[in-house]
Parts: sequence; C-alpha cells; structure tokens
Amino acid sequence: MSREIHLDAPNIGELEKQYLSRAVDSGYVSTIGDAVTEFEDKCAEYLNAQKAVSTNSGTSAIHIALHELGIGEGDEVIVPALTFIATGNPVMYAGATPVLADVDIRTWNIEPASVEKAVTEKTKAIIPVHLYGNPCNMDEINKIAKKYNLYVVEDAAESLGALYGGRFTGALGDLGCFSFNGNKTITTGGGGMVVGNDVQRMEHIKYLINQARDKKEEIYHSEIGFNYRLTNIQAALGLAQFEKLAGFLEKKRLFNGVYKEELKDLNTIRFQEQYDGAESSFWFTCILSEDGAARKELQKRLEQKGIPTRRIFTPINEFPPYRDCKFIDNGNAHNIYERGVCLPGSTRNGLDDIKYVCSTLKEFYYEGCSAD
Ligand SMILES: *Cc1c(COP(=O)(O)O)cnc(C)c1O
Repeated sequence: MSREIHLDAPNIGELEKQYLSRAVDSGYVSTIGDAVTEFEDKCAEYLNAQKAVSTNSGTSAIHIALHELGIGEGDEVIVPALTFIATGNPVMYAGATPVLADVDIRTWNIEPASVEKAVTEKTKAIIPVHLYGNPCNMDEINKIAKKYNLYVVEDAAESLGALYGGRFTGALGDLGCFSFNGNKTITTGGGGMVVGNDVQRMEHIKYLINQARDKKEEIYHSEIGFNYRLTNIQAALGLAQFEKLAGFLEKKRLFNGVYKEELKDLNTIRFQEQYDGAESSFWFTCILSEDGAARKELQKRLEQKGIPTRRIFTPINEFPPYRDCKFIDNGNAHNIYERGVCLPGSTRNGLDDIKYVCSTLKEFYYEGCSAD
C-alpha cells in the first residue's frame, strides 16, 4: 500500500529550511539571537497575554512556573489523574506533593467537583490540563481557585490555539505552559513557553531560566537559576511553524469534522466532548470504544490496515512514583484509558487519508468487532 498515514508526525518544509539557514548564517545558533525574542513576542501577541518566555521544553516551563510561584516542600498541587506524566513530574521536582483529581467522563478533563474535594490547607495550586486540545471548564476551576486562594497554572502543552469563552487557553490562569515538542501542534524540535500577564513575574522567570544571571554585573548570580533556555535555532524553527499555525488548526478542525460526520452512525463509539464555550484545537481526535477488549481489537485492525493509533495516557496514579498519591477517584480516568484511542491527527495527512481511516473503522464495526 502506498498510502502513509501519520499519527502525530511534525509538518515541516521549505519555510523551516529558510528560517533555519538564516539563523545559521547569522552566527547566532545558541541562546542569544533575534529569533528567541521574536518568537516570544509573537506568542504573547497571539495569545493576548502580556509576556511569554520560551524554555527548552514544556516540562521545564511547568517546573519554572511552579518554582516562580514559590511552590515547594509541604505544598500540595492538584493535577488530573488522566494526563501525560510531564504534568505531574514538575510538582515532584519542586518537592511538592501532587494530589490527583479525577476527570469528567464526557470531556476527559479535570472535574471541578473532584478538584474541590482534593483541596486541603496545604493546597497551593491547580494544574488544569486541556487534554488533546480540549479546554477545561476554566470558569469553575478559576472560581475554586479564587475561593481557596490557589494559583492556576494551565498545562496548555496540547492546546495551542484552543479557546474558552473566546480567550486562548494558556492565558486564562496565573501562568500558562506550552510545549513545542515534535508531536505537538507546532514544533521547535523541542521547546516550551510560559505565558502570563504579571510582567514582573514573567521577567523574573526569564532571569531564572538564564542561570539567574544578573544584568547589573558581568557574571553574577544572586539566586539559584536554571539552564532552561530555548536556542535561537529552535526559535527560528518555531517562527516558521508559527506562520503555519492557523493552517494547522484549520486542518485539525476539518479532520475532526470529517471524523464526526463519517462516524456519526456508529453508536458504539463516543467522541471526547467539549464544555459550553470551549473550542478545542483538536490536537488529536479521540474516541471511546465500548470496552477495553473492543478498543484492543480496533487498534489491531487499524494497524493491519496501515493506520497508526495511540492509547489514551495511562492515568498517572498507575505509575510507581504516583501510586501512593491521594486520588479523588470516580473511576473515570481508568475507564477512559481502557476504552480510548487517539486517531491519526498529523497535519501531514490529507482529507482522503482521514476518510480512509473512517471507512476502515466503519468496516470493522459493521463486521461485528472481530479483527480476524
Ligand atoms: C507534551 C506535554 C508536556 C510536556 O512537554 P515537553 O515539551 O515534552 O516537555 C506536558 N504536558 C502535557 C499534557 C503534554 O502533552
């Protein structure tokens, strides 16, 4: 078969080559250069936030955000159980304690009622994750945060371009964190971004990620900093990708529309749903099959037909370092993990590829769920 279907492959081409060679020709390939500030400014402007600071990963973006907010030993941070491990690990790096909240069975996002149950005297922050690009119920999250005086650090790693109440995710809490890893909506090869409206706080983050190097003295460090900088080469790649963001988002929304239209008569599957006022960026279109066995058969069949899929993230409470974490568990995270599948979402696919995925899925279900 000549058709090649991509799950999450990055979409890079001539424009990226141009921008990269410009950066190389400039001689600035490391942590100094125009592309870094330009990329940060473009992101802040797009998201309608006061300031953005680039980092070398989404994970380091979350870590520096927690560090900046003074979160450390003895503090609790509420995170959803159903997320990528990189939401929880920075809480551990900071020496704080993750407390896990369950997710909503319809939207797969952190459930406000579980968050409220997880709050204690020690709680300092909530990290809502806009899973697969689908915005959380930020009105409720922000209400709870206000009631208990907690910070909100959005993990918007998967949701660049998603909207909630007409505003971009990542700019709805105290700080927002993005990832530009190779599989994300746009990529810098590897990288991340912290976004916020408190300029003083953001400038301190910029200082901390640069080894806390004081501007006053030639080389002087008055705090323990980090080397979390994005390089000029990576930022150049990011600038090229940024120009394509609108097109990528349009394509992902189109894919989601095709999946929903083509599969609407299959009452055995359910799509991830959105809250009122949310507009997902559809990093991935994901479905739930009726049970774990059916999900497994479906993945097997699609693989046989050259269609790559991925399971939903393993709930983080199922990993050894998180096994003993307090968890407000309603069974939803595990349920979604058992039954859920991410369908091909890369913008390198064409509409015909997505239609092929749909017809293969339909064939499978109309045959009665057997891959043999
Ligand atoms: C990708 C991702 C991250 C981490 O980003 P990296 O750039 O890979 O460090 C964090 N949280 C979520 C939900 C992610 O999907």
